[in-house]
Amino acid sequence: MTRIAELSGEIFQVDLEERGKPGWSAGYFIKGGTDWMLMETGPASSAERILDAAQSIGIDHSRVKHVAVTHVHVDHAGGLGLIARHFAEAEIWVHPKGGRHMVNPARLIEGSMAVYGERKMREYGEMLPVPEERLRPAVDGKIINLGGRSVEVWETPGHARHAVCYYDMRTNGLFSGDAVGVYLPRLSAAFGCPVIRPATPVPDFNGELMMKDLYRLAHAGLQYIYFTHFGVASPAQLLIELAAGQLSFHLRIAKDCLDEENADEAIVIAKVTAALREYSAKVLRREMEKINVNEEMVAPEMSLLLDPLDDSAEGLLAYLQKAPANGR
Ligand SMILES: [Zn+2]
Repeated sequence: MTRIAELSGEIFQVDLEERGKPGWSAGYFIKGGTDWMLMETGPASSAERILDAAQSIGIDHSRVKHVAVTHVHVDHAGGLGLIARHFAEAEIWVHPKGGRHMVNPARLIEGSMAVYGERKMREYGEMLPVPEERLRPAVDGKIINLGGRSVEVWETPGHARHAVCYYDMRTNGLFSGDAVGVYLPRLSAAFGCPVIRPATPVPDFNGELMMKDLYRLAHAGLQYIYFTHFGVASPAQLLIELAAGQLSFHLRIAKDCLDEENADEAIVIAKVTAALREYSAKVLRREMEKINVNEEMVAPEMSLLLDPLDDSAEGLLAYLQKAPANGR
């Protein structure tokens, strides 16, 4: 059974159960008039969840007029080619810097293989090419007309050069991709306050640009953030400011480790990873003591928060080494 949550404003949140993990990646079906838009496909192995959701909601495939992805990382867009075949009437929205990788995914697959490894890539499923004639350029300020409903593209290159967000005017909400980081809904519910971590992966996370993106979003007066990882959350302002605060701490932690002069790359990455994990776990454990949360109950979400910090560490270091003048 695919887990679907009906949100206000004719938006359906679909749990893509990325690589069998529930509550980690979401796609969204948005309705405008009699038309539909799919926001984020997830990897190819999640296509079943999307098709299942379309059936449960009662979406006629020919009414899906738009499929959009926030960026071309495999966990967001790996299933785009496959989904495009099912929703044959849809225009496909991708930032121009990612579009060519969707038409010819060979290089993206090669690059992803280097980052994720063979086993994880197998779990993501086969990446199929998107027909070029169906691609539409998701560039800043572009307004997508969804049956009279307007969805605007905002470029947010901090997470990746090809990353954008989609602003839904009707709900004053933002489909943020990874621009505002990763939101942990169950931990947030347990603590009674949002828990977030920035998403700073290789190869082209850029700290300065991500801070700029967040600053822009903070000025937008948003109400909701529709996170890909994971789910709708509000108040948007608080979430954005939290993400910015976390980002500056993560950068600080990485800089401090770099300043300690380590020659070996792997050692520095391990050091930054450990420092990020230690910091995050300490903060959470302190909160848990205050409100009497049992650590075992939140263990799975704790690991969603802490485990990927090795990827964060790698991206932070790659950025700092590329731009050594940046605040070091
Ligand atoms: Zn992601």
